[in-house]
Amino acid sequence: MARLLLTGGAGFIGSHTALVLLEAGHEVVVLDDFRNSSPKALERVQELSGRSLDLVAGSLGDPATLERAFGGGLYSRGGAIDAVIHFAGLKAVGESVRHPLLYWDVNVNGSRLLLEAMDRAGCRTIVFSSSATLYGMPERTPIVETDAVRPINPYGHSKAAVERMLADLCETGADWRVASLRYFNPVGAHPSGRIGEDPEGIPNNLFPFVSQVAVGRRPELQVFGSDWPTHDGTGMRDYIHVMDLAEGHRAALDTLLREPPQLLTLNLGSGRGHSVLDVVRAFEIASGRSVPYRLVDRRPGDAAETVADPSLAAERLGWRTSRSLEDICRDGWAWQQANPSGYR
Ligand code: UDP
Repeated sequence: MARLLLTGGAGFIGSHTALVLLEAGHEVVVLDDFRNSSPKALERVQELSGRSLDLVAGSLGDPATLERAFGGGLYSRGGAIDAVIHFAGLKAVGESVRHPLLYWDVNVNGSRLLLEAMDRAGCRTIVFSSSATLYGMPERTPIVETDAVRPINPYGHSKAAVERMLADLCETGADWRVASLRYFNPVGAHPSGRIGEDPEGIPNNLFPFVSQVAVGRRPELQVFGSDWPTHDGTGMRDYIHVMDLAEGHRAALDTLLREPPQLLTLNLGSGRGHSVLDVVRAFEIASGRSVPYRLVDRRPGDAAETVADPSLAAERLGWRTSRSLEDICRDGWAWQQANPSGYR
């Protein structure tokens, strides 16, 4: 059992990971400023697990918040943090293009402040939320970890910069244990339908958009590009069930805490690609609703196909995905139906 700090633990991936870690018997402290998440997610995580977690409400940019997170404050149980899982950050590609400095501040500077606080507290074990976005326009697929890191937007650059910062720390010889997990496309929800993804405003991503069309909140889906070199002309992605992803974090943490200090850089994906129209069809079957769509032009910056080669994660963590596109659609639909307006 370890005492774990989850920055951004109230968000989509953070909340599902918090649940998996509580169920595994760990103690969980969540640091979150709720700028893009809801305290309700944490209430439901506690209800589902039957266990309580500690909350430090605030941002990484606030020194007092970090101080409290690392044991300077009063907790119900207290004690030192054994490891950090760092989810906190901004993740909208379009917003990052309009406001690059915001991304350098929140994602890069926020991570630096966190790492400084960890170093001061003598906690040098961290799992970092990285992203397949840092591969940019991949030259081949499936993508392996040694393929070029070539971000094409400020969001991707911010993830690459934090990976670099972590790799530099590992070079100091100060016994850092680091896992940078490069997520492919996290989707779905906990099968209870109690926690799930709750994007603010009009969703940018395919899955929340499709489920909002199915539930009648939006009239139709725009399919970005039908002339890609794929089996049906629409873009292919590697969709990973958020519960598989949460279990991947648990496996990464177990590996870091068990093995000698090291830097792990791993793709977390299923290794399978699905097109936009595959997703539409699977969602229609899972929901019993129709998902009207219109084929429109390609979205700037999109790639035809991004699929992970997840074999290194399988080898190093003993982890692989076990849930299918059908499971993703069924669980995503259960969440959407029970919470048509998310946590609001
Ligand atoms: N997509 C689409 N319509 C939308 C949103 C996304 O056709 O309203 C497509 C997009 O072009 C890509 C796939 O769905 O091929 C996944 O897009 P998403 O934004 O979810 O993830 P990412 O582009 O970051 O992989």
